[in-house]
Amino acid sequence: MTRVRCIVFNAALGALDYRVPTGMDAPPGSVVVLPLGPRQILGLVWDEGELPGDDYPEHKLRAVLEVLPVPPLPAPLRRLISWCADYYLAPLSAVARMALSSSAALKGGGTVTEYRLTGEEPARMTPQRLQALDLLQGEQATMRELAEIAGVSEAVLRGMLGQGLLEPVLVDSDRPYPAPDPQFAAPDLAEQQAAAAADMVAAVKAHRFQPFLLDGVTGSGKTETYFEAVAAALEAGRQVLVLLPEIALTAAFLSRFEKRFGTQPVTWHSSLKASERRRAWRQVAFGGARVVVGARSALFLPFADLGLIVVDEAHEIAFKQDDGVRYNARDVAVMRGHFEAVPVVLASATPALESLQMAEAGRYTRLVLPSRFGGALLPKIAVVNLTEMQPPRGRWLAPPLVEALADRLDKGEQSLLFLNRRGYAPLTLCRHCGFRFKCPNCSAWLVEHRLSQRLACHHCGHEVPPPPVCPECGEPDCLVACGPGVERIADEVGELMPGARVAVVTSDTLASPAAAAEFVAQAEAKAIDVIVGTQLVTKGFHFPELTLVGVVDADMGLDGGDLRAAERTYQQIAQVAGRAGRGAKPGEVLIQTRHPKAAVIAALASGDRDAFYAAETEARREAGAPPFGRWAAIIVSSEDEAEARDAARAIGGAQPREPGVLILGPAPAPLSLLRGRHRYRLLIAARRTAEVQKLIKGWLAPLRFPPGVRVAVDIDPYSFV
Ligand code: ADP
Ligand code: ZN
Repeated sequence: MTRVRCIVFNAALGALDYRVPTGMDAPPGSVVVLPLGPRQILGLVWDEGELPGDDYPEHKLRAVLEVLPVPPLPAPLRRLISWCADYYLAPLSAVARMALSSSAALKGGGTVTEYRLTGEEPARMTPQRLQALDLLQGEQATMRELAEIAGVSEAVLRGMLGQGLLEPVLVDSDRPYPAPDPQFAAPDLAEQQAAAAADMVAAVKAHRFQPFLLDGVTGSGKTETYFEAVAAALEAGRQVLVLLPEIALTAAFLSRFEKRFGTQPVTWHSSLKASERRRAWRQVAFGGARVVVGARSALFLPFADLGLIVVDEAHEIAFKQDDGVRYNARDVAVMRGHFEAVPVVLASATPALESLQMAEAGRYTRLVLPSRFGGALLPKIAVVNLTEMQPPRGRWLAPPLVEALADRLDKGEQSLLFLNRRGYAPLTLCRHCGFRFKCPNCSAWLVEHRLSQRLACHHCGHEVPPPPVCPECGEPDCLVACGPGVERIADEVGELMPGARVAVVTSDTLASPAAAAEFVAQAEAKAIDVIVGTQLVTKGFHFPELTLVGVVDADMGLDGGDLRAAERTYQQIAQVAGRAGRGAKPGEVLIQTRHPKAAVIAALASGDRDAFYAAETEARREAGAPPFGRWAAIIVSSEDEAEARDAARAIGGAQPREPGVLILGPAPAPLSLLRGRHRYRLLIAARRTAEVQKLIKGWLAPLRFPPGVRVAVDIDPYSFV
């Protein structure tokens, strides 16, 4: 009899054993349907001897009901899942679930009926039909998806179907994607590009695990360079995964990819339609999706034959997931490359200190592109000292920046103002009584958004319309905005330069790939004079006519005392500076600051990256901070404040004593209330060699908490709030 141990997708259960009936083939990795009591549940057959379980008597074992018609999850992916569960102290089933990320895909291929407009004119027009006819141009999707796109009910669409305005189309839900052509438009690489590409190509051809740090200044042509490695993987008949930190970047990436390879890659991110997810997942598993570009969740896709992984903008903190399974996609990408025996390319102009350290230690191969492609010069960087040159009251742009903006406007060139703060103002108060608008669910102020006329919490999404009277004192029209957000800066530009065409670029305005594509098209067509944006505009974009970058407040990221505050400030400003002067015209960067002597600002102004990184590295080494020490956080939360505090104290009281391990806290988290939960934190700071995971496991395992308490472990934390 064949007995298999399965991961089941039920948080309360461990692995369970089942019998494989004769004639059924269920090798490790098979996705199966299992009986559990009177129910049927989804399961994943796991490798023999890898999971603890009990010796349930054989004759009592129940039989696997069905093996779902998808290839078994490949061995390298199973090893990755195990590794993530161990390293990040996450339940195996929670990690495995990330690999089975399309339930529709598991049910097998077949056809789906989609619908599209026929082009007929309706005999009877209603406002809803008019809206649907307008919004459904060029769309083809299921009824439910069309209803969502058109913002009408499915009944309206059914009516239109009856009238012949819509027609059904039977599509193969499993159809492969067009294959990218590695020879389509190969560029002539500059010498430094060719040298870097050759190393990566060799590793692809050898099917060898080798992590690369592709360290090239902004505009050096990193993308074209790693495209050569992509081409080599395609030539070898293998698949490629490219990770990007934000969906907003995919639009620009897709068009560049298409120019190079003749067709778009397959995309994977959270805003895909269910039908798109299903097709992508299945084609990744069957090998018909050759190049996938995606967000961090794409790391857990079941590639049939992976040949290369690229992590672009690899320093970005967006690669760190901070809920559910708390993993760092950059690190997981390297592990997947290891298990798949393929090269992993981490591309960045401002690498994470951790990555540079790995290169230093000889674990990663560092490939350097020291100059911009095509002879473009790096921009000239100057500091505007705000203590000497103040903007007028109620304004945020100092005279030198205003002059520079006006100059670009005269010349018909583009400018970019960077401020990492969404909305109009970070704090709103009543001028009469001083009341401050606070989120009821979080310890955070509500941020005014004038474009959408609401006060919003950036942590939980709570929103209210701005009230006509102060809720505290009842005074009408009393709200004053404190401090600037990007919307307020855009207003200021509008007032100073009435003719300027200003675009606000944040995750609010670029929420979908379509909106991002629209913005890129407008900027490229020079329909925008001034871009005002958050960190979203710091990366990836290439606008040749953009010659001025203004950093509105360089000091903003430096307070807070976060481990990576200086590093992050350096990265953000260097990246946004890198948007200037990428074409034939030289670029200029003005950094507004109150602390021109701060090490990070001085390094930016003098362009001395190495000195900055060296000083930062030394500081971390001395403090025993990552990457020289190993940190972990324990976050305890509950809707009940006392319950959270008691649980945190219980954890603190049970702390193990181990040489070389320092445990700090529990203390109320800086964000002590988040989404209605009260939070406490502990920080574990250990030697690099300490077995932190084992320590935490042994520490927490015997403790019991009330059902309302959540205890989350964050290994290698990025967030300390
Ligand atoms: P990075 O990602 O390093 O900031 P990009 O990859 O965006 O730089 O390259 C900057 C610009 O130079 C882009 O417009 C890109 O298309 C162009 N470019 C880079 N390498 C080549 C090449 N070998 N041939 C032609 N154009 C190139
Ligand atoms: Zn909130």
